[in-house]
Amino acid sequence: MHLRDIFKSRRTTFSFEFFPPKTDAAAANLYESARELEQLRPTFVSVTYGAGGSTRERTNDLVVRLKRETSLRPFPHLACVAHTEDQITRILERYAEAGIANIVALRGDMPKDMDAGTPSAFPYAADLVAHIKRFGEQGRHPSSRGFGIAVAGYPEGHHSTPNRVKEMEHLRAKVDAGADAIITQMFFDNRDFYDFRARCELAGIRVPIIAGVMPITSLPNMRRMAELALGTRFPAALIRAVLRAGEDDAAVERVGIHWATEQCRDLLDNNVAGLHLYTLNKSKATQQIYLNLGVKDSEELGADPVGNGGL
Ligand SMILES: Cc1cc2nc3c(=O)[nH]c(=O)nc-3n(C[C@H](O)[C@H](O)[C@H](O)COP(=O)(O)OP(=O)(O)OC[C@H]3O[C@@H](n4cnc5c(N)ncnc54)[C@H](O)[C@@H]3O)c2cc1C
Repeated sequence: MHLRDIFKSRRTTFSFEFFPPKTDAAAANLYESARELEQLRPTFVSVTYGAGGSTRERTNDLVVRLKRETSLRPFPHLACVAHTEDQITRILERYAEAGIANIVALRGDMPKDMDAGTPSAFPYAADLVAHIKRFGEQGRHPSSRGFGIAVAGYPEGHHSTPNRVKEMEHLRAKVDAGADAIITQMFFDNRDFYDFRARCELAGIRVPIIAGVMPITSLPNMRRMAELALGTRFPAALIRAVLRAGEDDAAVERVGIHWATEQCRDLLDNNVAGLHLYTLNKSKATQQIYLNLGVKDSEELGADPVGNGGL
């Protein structure tokens, strides 16, 4: 189903992000997690894309397998950095053939093991969005509207554009090029998301904005995220709670899940268009968030509590 139809048919979307596994053992674990998370009936799942070499194939393989063997609706990420136009077109052809309806279109970052001078046919995500749009307009996708397209947004700003006014213009360019929704980078203070949403509105950006939420599950995972999602602010209250848990890994995980649960509850109360949970290929934290919110699956989570008879 095209992203636009998805948003027509539901108040809020619930989605989970996976990354392609590097080994057979990791693939087995991921597949098990995906099966468990399938019970939560997400609106879609997305699969990240490693910009370098062989990892690119893994996204395609995982997406096609999830589509074939589960009831999940997989959205592949596609990053255009260090790609020629032909390479991107071939990837789009494969996804169109496999019946994939939606893509998360990104620029990506030049992989460290690649020459920084490697050319990219599409310098920015907006150029990739325009190319994916053209692909659809040429009738090369089974849907007459082509692929549905989501793009990345950064509530706390993207590190390579310190000028936040310019940054909103660049985000607007992606939407003007044809993006149907924005999925945000993780954030740990919802006020950053609400301000970003308001700035999007002021910039004339009218597509749904899906909030990216990452439950912290361990200290190493928190440090890794600080590196990967450069610029992400960890509020003092969160750091204090994590430090209180100290060396007790299970306690750190409980703190992280509690924080993410509260973020989700508050976002739902403030009419978020969608929640996108960064699962790190594990099911436990996501399942626990649903349990904490008192629901068994995404249908219950998305239902409007008004009309349930009140207290
Ligand atoms: C939801 C989400 C999913 C992600 N998934 C992946 C993934 O699967 N694989 C991966 O490798 N990375 C992924 N990333 C990370 C992302 O690729 C990096 O943050 C990357 O640095 C920027 O990608 P972008 O698509 O936001 O790029 P763009 O939107 O092209 O923006 C990149 C930077 O360039 C600036 N810019 C844009 N247009 C112009 C212009 N015309 N002139 C000057 N500057 C401009 C922007 O302001 C921004 O600072 C993801 C990020 C998010 C939020």
